[in-house]
Amino acid sequence: MTSCSTQQLPEALVDSFQRRVSYLRLSVTDRCDFRCVYCMAEDMIFAPKAEILSLEELFQVAQAFTELGVSKIRLTGGEPLIRSNVMSLVERLGRLPGLGQLAITTNGSQLQRLAPALKDAGVKRINISLDSLRPRKFRQLTRHGNLDQVIAGIDAAAAAGFQGVKINAVILKGRNEGEVVDLVNFAIEREVDIAFIEEMPLGLIDDHDRALTFCSSEEIRLALAPHFQLQPAGEPSGNSGPARYYTVTGRNTRVGFISPHSNNFCHLCNRVRVTVEGRLLLCLGNEHSVDLRAVLRSPDYTLDKLKWAIVDAMAIKPERHHFNNDEQPQVLRFMNATGG
Ligand code: SAM
Ligand code: SF4
Repeated sequence: MTSCSTQQLPEALVDSFQRRVSYLRLSVTDRCDFRCVYCMAEDMIFAPKAEILSLEELFQVAQAFTELGVSKIRLTGGEPLIRSNVMSLVERLGRLPGLGQLAITTNGSQLQRLAPALKDAGVKRINISLDSLRPRKFRQLTRHGNLDQVIAGIDAAAAAGFQGVKINAVILKGRNEGEVVDLVNFAIEREVDIAFIEEMPLGLIDDHDRALTFCSSEEIRLALAPHFQLQPAGEPSGNSGPARYYTVTGRNTRVGFISPHSNNFCHLCNRVRVTVEGRLLLCLGNEHSVDLRAVLRSPDYTLDKLKWAIVDAMAIKPERHHFNNDEQPQVLRFMNATGG
């Protein structure tokens, strides 16, 4: 049932489990210049152009959420920085009243060119994916990526003066599990944070059997223990998101573990996602969604109607997700379509 337009819009988004939603991950494209083996199939079919939101529609979505009390937006994809004209959107978002934190997740391929412009436009935090420091391995895992280009991008981001730069690494058994110590040392050298992510069963992939490659956060933590003194940096919270962070004694680097399997922080969930097709996803691990594109493209569209659609969607945000890499994925969309 849609709420009546004569009612007053709330100032905050609260779901039926009394969780306040204050964080939006907004996907600006499902396309990518890489084809990471855990994220995409080799031959991906992307959404037709007519079905993806225009930059103006993406801006309307961001505005609606910030006017409903969302204070943090992370741009993601696909690879957000390959969307043409994406900087014009970033610049508008950077000026959006009420948006306390604009962030971006990227594979780093365009960062050497764009890091200073992103900083000037108001991006505060940047996450960069890096799964291997060995050029051939990096190419195998990303299928198309160039390691030198990504490292140059990370260095450009570290030099640009963002509030936070973090490396994200997905670790797969038998592929890059032997690199966790090197990856932490790489982050320490650059004084940036690093988070290890457990592989999630999103989308059907043909490169490997996720049940065999799964590497838990605990296994990684044990592999790091002889090399670094890791001190817990507090419990996960709405701010840290699902990551559990440790400080490295004597260093300016924090090491995080994102464990959607082994730790479940759904009770702290403060986020929702919007795909580039305008689907509002209420949970990463469930299919519950609302079609915001239909609202945006209806002949009598108003920003208030969009806001009501978002407010009403809070009623179907699920309590939690269930992931099990041994089973067929319950969620058939790939991570690039979800907005990582
Ligand atoms: N292209 C950008 C990038 O790679 O950072 C942004 C989008 S990507 C989908 C966002 C994050 O999701 C990346 O850190 C990537 O490693 C992670 N990711 C993709 N597929 C995943 C999966 N099946 N399980 C866990 N993490 C995944
Ligand atoms: Fe592209 Fe990011 Fe997915 Fe890799 S993880 S294929 S870089 S969207």
